[in-house]
Amino acid sequence: MTERRLASDLVARFSRLTWITLSAYAVVVIGAFAVLGEVSLGRSMGQTATVIESLLGLYAGPGGERTTVASDSLAEHLVGMGARFIITRTAPTAEGGRSVYFLSPTMPAKRIEALGPDATPEDVNAEIVRAVAERGRWRYRILRRPVGEFDIFIAGSRQPHMVALAAIAGVVLLLLPLAALAARRATRTSVGTALAPVERVSSETQSIGPDDLSRRVAEPTGVIEVTQIAAAINRLIARVETAHRALEAFTADASHELRTPLTYLRAQAQWALDERRSPEEMREALAAIGSEVERTSKLVDDLLLLARSDNRAIEVGRDPFDLSVIACDAREIAEAMATGRDVAVLNEVREPVNALGDSHYTRQVVLNIVINAVRHTARGSVTISLRRDDERVGVAVRDTGEGIPPWDLDHIFDRFYRVEKSRSRAHGGVGLGLAIARMLTELQGGGIEVESTVGEGSTFTVWLPTA
Ligand code: ADP
Repeated sequence: MTERRLASDLVARFSRLTWITLSAYAVVVIGAFAVLGEVSLGRSMGQTATVIESLLGLYAGPGGERTTVASDSLAEHLVGMGARFIITRTAPTAEGGRSVYFLSPTMPAKRIEALGPDATPEDVNAEIVRAVAERGRWRYRILRRPVGEFDIFIAGSRQPHMVALAAIAGVVLLLLPLAALAARRATRTSVGTALAPVERVSSETQSIGPDDLSRRVAEPTGVIEVTQIAAAINRLIARVETAHRALEAFTADASHELRTPLTYLRAQAQWALDERRSPEEMREALAAIGSEVERTSKLVDDLLLLARSDNRAIEVGRDPFDLSVIACDAREIAEAMATGRDVAVLNEVREPVNALGDSHYTRQVVLNIVINAVRHTARGSVTISLRRDDERVGVAVRDTGEGIPPWDLDHIFDRFYRVEKSRSRAHGGVGLGLAIARMLTELQGGGIEVESTVGEGSTFTVWLPTA
């Protein structure tokens, strides 16, 4: 597809439109003038015919019959009116035939005389039309009006209004290109003015590089539609900025979380390599190294899982499964974790509840939340129960632990966010557990809700679509 500049495209379209409109207008004006000329010619011929008709009436014989040839004075009168006309009279002949007399002196009498005395008014009409055609069909118009035994023929000349029409057409043809040119110039100017905000938004957007994502395109632009585009671009830049910052923070956090175990491992290895270490001490150091390596590989697994979800490379099943089975498994693990502590793990799950999603990932999510609950509960209980509403089913994990301050509640699902960094790290967490839990739940079309009161405990509910 060929790319064109909007401005030139618009100018071309408007110019074409102007040409068509102006030409159509010219055609309409010329046409209207021609029609008006025809109408007024017809009307004036009609009036002439009426005058001739009334004058004919004056020349009736003494008995009221119009039998005589028109007198010279009638002819003079009519010629004085400037009319081109013929009056014929059809009279019965002595032999029982009919003969036509030509009463008027001003028309091409020679030819009419050539018709002979037996000609009918129709012959006269045909002859006049032929004579007029010889002189130019378009230049004259013929009117025939029968008045008793007389026939009045009038030839009206189109010459005067043809001249005016030609003058108008000439002027129009001369002015049309000038008007179209002027319209093109005006269009170019106004299109340029109209598109200026678009150009401005475009150049401002282009000037925003990856380093100045905090900059925005100026709003309002003066044109509602362009302002809407500018606002949309600004929203897009804001999203890109947020994502960019999140990525930067994520990279910084991830590097930090990976560097810490590496420093620890190097220190342990150096300590163990010291010649003074006993075999017992070396075994202890190796065991510590082993568990740190395990933690780090779990961290790397978590990071890979998040990266795959960011790249939409995780496949999530959508099959029915029983949530109560997962709840029971989670309870067993929680009980094992709580052994020897003053924490009771209670199971309120009574009957099977079918969810739609991925049982493997849901198990991971619920375990994560149950393990958090046991970790953050010094004494009291952790209760697992099932929920159900119109379209969803859920697993709720309620604990009587330390609770989460309200200002942290909005962030606990953020990557690497920990309420108390030092304590959480002592538990072995780096703040990815809930981020992964939320990501896996949302991939299944569900969500996680949390309610918490500091000192009283928290309730996490994992919701999934019902099967
Ligand atoms: P971590 O892996 O470090 O535990 P999570 O993402 O699982 O990170 O949790 C984020 C933060 O939320 C933790 O630092 C912890 O302080 C807080 N948290 C999670 N679950 C609970 C809970 N049941 N009670 C109190 N705080 C909790």
